[in-house]
Amino acid sequence: MALIIGLTGGIASGKTTVANLFHDQFGIEIVDADVIARQVVEKGSEGLQAIHQHFGDEILTADSELNRAELRKRIFANENEKAWVNQLLHPMIRQRMEQKLKQVTSPYALLVVPLLTENNLQHMADRVLVVDVDEETQIERAMSRDKVPMEQAKSILAAQATREQRLAIADDVIKNNAKNQKLLPQITELHKKYLAISRKNL
Ligand code: ATP
Repeated sequence: MALIIGLTGGIASGKTTVANLFHDQFGIEIVDADVIARQVVEKGSEGLQAIHQHFGDEILTADSELNRAELRKRIFANENEKAWVNQLLHPMIRQRMEQKLKQVTSPYALLVVPLLTENNLQHMADRVLVVDVDEETQIERAMSRDKVPMEQAKSILAAQATREQRLAIADDVIKNNAKNQKLLPQITELHKKYLAISRKNL
């Protein structure tokens, strides 16, 4: 299996921007936990079927899709329900991630996991790459991208791991602070490093 680089960072830190550069510049394949988390509950999936059986018809939209707002409401109000959903979906997500990683043909893969630190998922990767950004920039970027007020951006940040917690598990760090922060040179350096490591691992 290819070398796995776990890519993480807080909200609006630049994970997608960074992952796209690795992909577009160097053809590195990406496995994205958020994409997989949506796939395991898509219409007709085993995951959605189990959720439907557990919560009843109200958990589906008129189109038989997952009613995310309703699910959020149910699990926000009840820790047991939250644990039930996590116990159902986390193994499914993990399994599908592993399956995707096995299919990777580039010399290494980027496993993008926004909540890698929060969920202690470092063991899924050979190395952890953190996109590091100061909180002020993070709040500004979240506000302008998602059109949310400052209070909301701040509360999302407060619910996530801190910058220090993320940096504590980082093997490598990309700095994405100021507007003129150069991402490509940092990514090019890391790409060379990861190629060298993946060659050694052969
Ligand atoms: P999330 O996990 O919240 O979806 P993310 O970590 O994937 O976010 P991106 O979507 O890549 O972050 O970036 C967040 C926003 O900040 C985007 O609008 C992006 O265009 C912008 N951005 C990222 N890096 C830079 C940069 N170096 N300079 C200016 N804007 C940037």
